Amino acid sequence: MQVKKRPQDVSVRYIKGVGPKKADLFEKIGVHSIADLFYYLPRRYEDRSRIVKVRELRPGGVQTVVGEVLKTNIFTAKTGTCIFEAAIGDETSRVFAVWYNQPYMNKVLSPGQTVMLYGDVELQKRLVITHPAFAILDNVDIAESLEVGRIVPIYSLTEKLTQRYLRKTVHQAIQSYVSGAEDCLPTALRARHKLVDSEFAIQNIHFPRSFENLERAYNRLVFEEFFILQVVMALRRKKFAEDGIGHELGDGLLDDFRDLFPFELTEGQKKCIHQIERDMLADRPMYRLLQGDVGSGKTVVAMYALLLTAKNGYQGTMMAPTEILARQHYVTLSKTFMPLGLSVRLLVNGISRRDHDMIVGEIHKGEVDIVVGTHSLIQEKIDYKNLGLVIIDEQHKFGVAQRKELRGKGKIIPDTLVMTATPIPRSLALTVYGDMDLSLMKEKPGGRLGVTTYCVTEEKRQLVYDFIRGEIENGRQAFIVYPRIKKTASSDLLAAEEMYKQFKGEVFKDLRVVLVHGRMKSPEKDKIMTEFRDKKFDILIATTIIEVGVDIPNVTVMMVEHAERYGLAQLHQLRGRIGRGKYASYCILMGDPKTDASRERLSVMTETDDGFKIAEKDLDLRGPGEFLGTRQSGLPELKFGNIIRDFAIMEKARNEAFERIHKDPSLKDPRNGGLRRAIMERFGGKVSL
Ligand code: ADP
Ligand code: MG
Repeated sequence: MQVKKRPQDVSVRYIKGVGPKKADLFEKIGVHSIADLFYYLPRRYEDRSRIVKVRELRPGGVQTVVGEVLKTNIFTAKTGTCIFEAAIGDETSRVFAVWYNQPYMNKVLSPGQTVMLYGDVELQKRLVITHPAFAILDNVDIAESLEVGRIVPIYSLTEKLTQRYLRKTVHQAIQSYVSGAEDCLPTALRARHKLVDSEFAIQNIHFPRSFENLERAYNRLVFEEFFILQVVMALRRKKFAEDGIGHELGDGLLDDFRDLFPFELTEGQKKCIHQIERDMLADRPMYRLLQGDVGSGKTVVAMYALLLTAKNGYQGTMMAPTEILARQHYVTLSKTFMPLGLSVRLLVNGISRRDHDMIVGEIHKGEVDIVVGTHSLIQEKIDYKNLGLVIIDEQHKFGVAQRKELRGKGKIIPDTLVMTATPIPRSLALTVYGDMDLSLMKEKPGGRLGVTTYCVTEEKRQLVYDFIRGEIENGRQAFIVYPRIKKTASSDLLAAEEMYKQFKGEVFKDLRVVLVHGRMKSPEKDKIMTEFRDKKFDILIATTIIEVGVDIPNVTVMMVEHAERYGLAQLHQLRGRIGRGKYASYCILMGDPKTDASRERLSVMTETDDGFKIAEKDLDLRGPGEFLGTRQSGLPELKFGNIIRDFAIMEKARNEAFERIHKDPSLKDPRNGGLRRAIMERFGGKVSL
């Protein structure tokens, strides 16, 4: 008995007509095995299936026609161009097919042959099709042609691989190997979601008999892709379902916690605190993403989690992306927790070696309850006595790898709370953070008057300055943000240093102006920020380092120069720095948008300050890769599915995947055999089965 070879085990070189040389060309398009070829998706399709009579051909459209070669002619035009033309006719009329500089066509076509042509029909005194796709039908069945008379796949090519050749090869591969392909989708699942089997899908994604079939093939492949992805998420999630810390809730903890603040918690904060509490009380580790727009009060939620872990005798750590932010958290946390007798420490690069070593020692001995810091929390060897909770603030500034590293610091897997102020549309969140539970805080603490945003151009500059001055005379403060620190010769962008001088020397010389930027040393930056917070200055000139997390409620104006240069997410983050107190606040976007996209961005900013709406718009404008920032984004490469367009399919696939892993965590059920093998093949050691 002949055993069918599986397509993923066979190199394309064994397909008839390929061989080692051609196989190298396939390598260039990322195709190694026959399975790769099956999954080499056509870029688009041409409908060459509707055949019309010659008389029915209409100029200005792509059409298919069958006829007899009546006459051929080859000649050289005055310009030197070699022209080959063939008159093709049926019982109704005739049409001319023309090829430029392809003299060999003279050997290909000759009178008497029956041919099928496909191409763009033009009227040039007579009906002409230039460089049509064609097939000679003598001795062949139309139904057998891969070129005409059907819906034809168009592939992305590399040099030396032609459409014709690729089609033939794919077709050949399907003929010989498709029946050996194992279906990774269990039968019952396919039935439930009305999905075609993999053989049908592969056949019809390349050579569809109809557009309905193409759609069914496509839907199946999209589902498959998302399903596999979500199974991997579910497997990763399962790993965290293992032993964790079961915290215990003391009496009245939440009430005591509320008493720490002069304000009422928002509904969103209460809800998220409740979700986190539930996670932390459970034995399995928490792995939760808290999404809350800037100013929604995530820190308070984080503090509850920290308190809960500390009350249970564990250590909690909170990592922030910048030193400014870490210090700010440190101040807030120590102010709040010190009266409760908890010890809070700050661990950043900017502190002295001696202090640093002392703190690390205290952490090891368990004398510290809560550590706040930057990357240094993961860069160094810190030996926690008993780490119970890890909080990562502004998670979008960290990569997936860093997230893992911090979690790895605990002896038992600690509970993990990841916070982000970059609202991520649900579609993306399920793809990129699909292994986490999601919490959302939509509303902001009440009593805030919101931020009014204006877009203005250069001629209003003086008015803007007057406006800023007005706010300062009312006792408020202002931010002015520049894209660069220094002016460069090659660009006429305004820069922070130069403008600082100008403001200090002329425009605002009677006011207290200060400059902060990323190239300053941390102690200096911190000193300036602290003094600014203490109202020792009126105006802070800055680069975008103030983007993340800075919280100074007395600032009511922010002017962003060259606003057209920033993405929506960044503008939204920047704007989130104001409107944090009880005063009405204003964001002035100064800029000169030259492209539609930049105009659109600025107009979105004036229309809404709902972070989720802005995120959806941003995702729309930039697409998922750009939206997340390609670096370390964790965005999986998708061949078929589109996270936005196919979101409904993804949700179904996700539910199926999580339920399946829940019931059969190691995919041991024989009905999941195909799935198991597909996962092992594609993800190998990266998943635990
Ligand atoms: P973000 O979510 O951007 O990190 P923060 O946690 O920094 O927001 O909170 C922003 C400001 O709102 C802080 O000054 C904080 O004290 C205040 N705040 C937080 N929760 C509330 C609340 N429920 N009511 C009033 N103010 C609050
Ligand atoms: Mg914050």
